[in-house]
Amino acid sequence: MSQPNDYESNILKTLHRLSAKIQNIQGSEEGFRIIADEIRSIANSDYAAIFLVDKDSSTLKLVGLSGFDQEKAKSLPVVKVDEEYRRRVFDANGPRILKLRSQSDFPSVAQDLAKTTDMETGLLSPIVLRGEFLGYVAIGNKKGSPVASESVEALMPPSSDAVAMIVDSMRVYSKLSQAKEGTDRILSLAPIGIFSCDSTGIFKSVNRQMLTMLDSDSEQELIGTSVFELPIVTKSGLDALLMQGIEGHEGEKADIHFVLRSDRALYLHVKVTPLKTEKGDVQGLLAVAMDITSKIRLQNQLERSYEKLTQTYQELERVTKMKTQFIDVVSHELRTPLTVMRGYIDLVESEYSAKLEPKFGSRLKIIKTNTDKLYGLVESMLDVSRLEKGSLQIHPEPVRVDTILEEIVQTMIHDAEVKNQTVTLDIEGKLPLIMADRRRLKDVFSNLIDNGLKYTQEGGRIQVSARDEGRMLHVWVKDNGMGIPLENLGKIFDRFHLVTSNDLSHQVNRLGLGLPIAKGIIEAHGGRMWVESQVGKGSVFHVDLPKEQAK
Ligand code: ADP
Repeated sequence: MSQPNDYESNILKTLHRLSAKIQNIQGSEEGFRIIADEIRSIANSDYAAIFLVDKDSSTLKLVGLSGFDQEKAKSLPVVKVDEEYRRRVFDANGPRILKLRSQSDFPSVAQDLAKTTDMETGLLSPIVLRGEFLGYVAIGNKKGSPVASESVEALMPPSSDAVAMIVDSMRVYSKLSQAKEGTDRILSLAPIGIFSCDSTGIFKSVNRQMLTMLDSDSEQELIGTSVFELPIVTKSGLDALLMQGIEGHEGEKADIHFVLRSDRALYLHVKVTPLKTEKGDVQGLLAVAMDITSKIRLQNQLERSYEKLTQTYQELERVTKMKTQFIDVVSHELRTPLTVMRGYIDLVESEYSAKLEPKFGSRLKIIKTNTDKLYGLVESMLDVSRLEKGSLQIHPEPVRVDTILEEIVQTMIHDAEVKNQTVTLDIEGKLPLIMADRRRLKDVFSNLIDNGLKYTQEGGRIQVSARDEGRMLHVWVKDNGMGIPLENLGKIFDRFHLVTSNDLSHQVNRLGLGLPIAKGIIEAHGGRMWVESQVGKGSVFHVDLPKEQAK
């Protein structure tokens, strides 16, 4: 490679000097002044100046000066970019140096300045950054001073480039600081604590939330100190997680308990990430902490509530079991003497009724009716306990549901007439024979129709309907009675549940056993029972019975 000549080596030296200066520059104002001084010294000229275009106003801003009386320079007028001059130094053909050989060569706005400073000659070099015209680097010489030589001329483009470099880095810096400001703002607002430290645990940065978590007043208090010196870090076990990070392993812990003061404790979920160099050495750590105190408290509360609920449930189960046992025992105990009593009553009735005084005869009837009622009640209670134990037996036989319904309606018509109600039966088409427990089905439909009469006002209407629906036989009992409030709809199939808000809450003869038993019987047949109802409008009780019994 050939040795550089003087000319080239001068350029290299200039570049080297300028770049060395630029590296030590703190701020742009100082930077431009230093560059102006350097350019003046390299060019050995009387004056040097740097002008930059203010993009918004298209004016030229004097940013660096050397050799001028600074005060005078400050009073210089702000001037628009002179397009004519700009074209002379920079157009589609690229940048060029403009030689100012006499005062008349100076742009008109600079002529006054030239006069007052005794400037006679000079050079104007455009500053260009990636094709964008940024301004001028200018040097000037007084009358009598030597005119800038060719080698000085050659130094102008690298000087302009140095200025372009500063502008470029200023722009990058400004963008970076904007981005950093944005990130800092987000980090300070983020609802998570963040801190970073070096590979020995010395705090490098701490955001606001982390300061609160660490019970510290300011970042300055922590920066430069070791995270391992904080008692809370060792007490809570966070130190182990951080040590793990320093050894190069990511770590996470969801139950770090920070007891800061007697009145302040936190639960933190902390994630530690080692920050590694390209080679894989740990340079530092980034720790992110989320305050999960309220979540943990809620969880604890939930656990306690769950425990209480389980206890209550167990207690309830125990009481229910006792109740069932009680019903079971009482019903069994009552059934035997009641059966004996019924037997004797029947005997007396058949053997002696003719011989009895009419007064005794009617009393005997009352005794018989009440004993039958009592027996029915005991049977219901036994059915309930059978249902609960799953021991309710059904005895299927070929049954005609339409016949059963006709029989029941016939027996109920009298009761309905007493209340001026109408009971109708509507069978759609012909119903097939099905296998079912005749006695039990009779109980079910009697109960539904009886309820219809019971819970419908005088003059009301009860419609019993049935039809073959393919796989199922559908029977429904509709009334225009008082209806059932929504909040009770799901409960009326529970044993002993009565709707207490309706007008009949005072009515005796209500036990709340009919529907649960009816539903149990239908389900024992493989069928379904449900209700639709609206207060004031009436209710429809539906029964679906399978035509074929499941094998
Ligand atoms: P009981 O009629 O002996 O009270 P049920 O088990 O047959 O017992 O009925 C439970 C409750 O459901 C009744 O107390 C009543 O409040 C309500 N109920 C049942 N059928 C009807 C109906 N058709 N209309 C309005 N309410 C009804």
